[in-house]
Amino acid sequence: MSDCSHIQSPPPSTSIAVWGHWMRDHGSAIRCIQWVVVVVYLFLIIVPVCLPLPDDQARILNNLTLFAQFLFWGIWWPFVLVSMLLIGRSWCGVFCPEGALSEWASQHGRGGAIPRWAKWNGWPFVAFCLTTIYGQLVSVYQYPKAALLVLGGSTLVAMAIGLMYGKGKRVWCRHLCPVSGVFRLLSRLSPVYMEVDRSQWQAHGKQRVIPINCAPLVDIRRMQRPSDCHLCGRCAGHRNAVELAWRHPNAEITSPQTESHSVWDLILLVYGLLGVAIGAFQWTASPWFIMAKQTMAEWLIDHDILWPLDDNAPWWILTHYPEHNDTFTWLDGGMIVVYILTMAVVLGSWVILWLAAAARTHIGTWGHQLHRMANTLIPLAACGVFLGLSALTASLLKTEGLPMLWLNPTRATLLVLATLWSAWLLWQQGKAQGLLRRGAAILLLMPAWAGIIGSWVLLFWIW
Ligand code: SF4
Repeated sequence: MSDCSHIQSPPPSTSIAVWGHWMRDHGSAIRCIQWVVVVVYLFLIIVPVCLPLPDDQARILNNLTLFAQFLFWGIWWPFVLVSMLLIGRSWCGVFCPEGALSEWASQHGRGGAIPRWAKWNGWPFVAFCLTTIYGQLVSVYQYPKAALLVLGGSTLVAMAIGLMYGKGKRVWCRHLCPVSGVFRLLSRLSPVYMEVDRSQWQAHGKQRVIPINCAPLVDIRRMQRPSDCHLCGRCAGHRNAVELAWRHPNAEITSPQTESHSVWDLILLVYGLLGVAIGAFQWTASPWFIMAKQTMAEWLIDHDILWPLDDNAPWWILTHYPEHNDTFTWLDGGMIVVYILTMAVVLGSWVILWLAAAARTHIGTWGHQLHRMANTLIPLAACGVFLGLSALTASLLKTEGLPMLWLNPTRATLLVLATLWSAWLLWQQGKAQGLLRRGAAILLLMPAWAGIIGSWVLLFWIW
């Protein structure tokens, strides 16, 4: 399908809308950017696998493996997450190599209908948890083979899905990508979005338009939020009703007309971003993990069950690099899974408990208020994941000899700001509820904030 249906649309009236039209009219430039990113991405995940693992003398600037590690996990991932808060899902629409490859494969694929299983709303949560936990088991941040397996494997599946389903679509990105749910949540705070003017749309009537190929399958006419939109710009100016626009970053979360979100979004936020992710960042430093593992090991020895203490699993099941004195036993692997899942259940349920209580304070359907209030935790969740991912950035920079005195004060500042932002969102949500109800909701959510902040304080300041 062509994306040039707007040639006769009136000129855009704001500078950001002009940018949207520029993107629409320069689809080939965007595709060039995507292919450049694809080449760099493939180079950085494939070439380090062919090189020896870095020794103690290796540094980011003289060792490609460390450079790729720093670029992927230290810069790319943390700042892709930040970009969701600043420019919505533009990363997906303009830069993401996996999305670009999946769409390209779909253009040349069999164009099958999307099967029902693929549309299950639980995939973003399940895929996020599985990828996060598996990444920890194979030490994806440290070893090129593991990174190739996890990232390259995901890219291959994305392309296979593209070849099977849709025609020029991103079925993978819309329904199955392990981070699409996270991106959807974070982009609720984006100050840019595609604004659809329904009255203009209707006024355009039956005038002929060339249909838009919206790769992530957004129902553009009914689009109110930017969560599924990749901000690719293709629909800018469509029917004189769609434009790239600014909005207040808090607008979607504080709006009383918040659309009813899927229960899976809630689960992903509370048990995924605030549970599994925190557990995954925490276990390496946790004395509770060591204690539980030692207790378990003693119990196994006492009962003469010794095979879980073997470290003979292949590297693609559990970390196995004996030449670097880095191998996981079956017990290590099992305890990592147990630790992460326990953190997810304990912390997630703690947060849900206080959310459920706070939702009772506001007039309106309890379930609706629960979903709305959960959204106020997005700044804290985003800050936590950013801090967790940037811990690797910090440790790599430390190895380079850079002074890190600024690190902990910066972390503390970000956590305080994110908590204040969450509190402000909750306060604004209760505008029509009266002072008493607003205050009660804030008080009731304080233990949830304390639980989340406490888990980061343990990791960065106590352990
Ligand atoms: S709605 Fe679809 S076509 Fe329009 S900008 Fe978003 S992703 Fe692109």
